[in-house]
Amino acid sequence: MENEPSANEEVCGEAYDHDVVIDHEGKHGIQWHCARPECGVEVWDPAPITTEQ
Ligand SMILES: [Zn+2]
Repeated sequence: MENEPSANEEVCGEAYDHDVVIDHEGKHGIQWHCARPECGVEVWDPAPITTEQ
């Protein structure tokens, strides 16, 4: 019984979407992280939402 290394390994954020948890939402961007412990990315997403000029 061997687990072959797979080139098609499922990667969070690639094979499927991150489980996004928003930490901070501001007018200059959103800080969020992925709730999946095996992933655990932290992302600063600059100004994805513009409701004001
Ligand atoms: Zn993730």
